[in-house]
Amino acid sequence: MLRHQSAALAGRAEALPAAAAGSAVFLNALAIRVLLQADDARVYILGRPVELACALRTRFGIPCPTCGFSRAVVLALHGSIGRAWHLAPGAAAGVCATLAFAAALLILAALRASRSPAAQPFGRQLRRVSVVCAILVGVIWAAGWAAALQQARHPHFSHLTTIRTQIE
Ligand SMILES: [Zn+2]
Repeated sequence: MLRHQSAALAGRAEALPAAAAGSAVFLNALAIRVLLQADDARVYILGRPVELACALRTRFGIPCPTCGFSRAVVLALHGSIGRAWHLAPGAAAGVCATLAFAAALLILAALRASRSPAAQPFGRQLRRVSVVCAILVGVIWAAGWAAALQQARHPHFSHLTTIRTQIE
């Protein structure tokens, strides 16, 4: 009985870091959803527009690697993944990957808490998949920035994209 209880306690202790990290991500996402809105032009805090101008874009007309990220993150967390992708593919992919990772952490925590034999292989697999996903998000981010730079260099092309966005 005592051994069973201490095993359950140990399981819970082992589950705690994963549970805390996974929950923290979802709580943050929820806070952003409640406090922030966004459209294609700007982010709003409780309905008030935030005027954030990118220094690099303002001074040199070149988008920085994180241009559009705040709008894209907020849009993605409101479920507008397509619009987020259009603004900053790296941010959209990053949000999806982070939420999936947090969900996997909660599953891992549940497996550990119940002392399931599946916990260890799941944890190992999660580590491997996370590395691949992080690399993938990095590649998407870099490709998205390259595309944004290309658009900034060819405003005509960017104009066409704007028209396409409006039609969509
Ligand atoms: Zn920027």
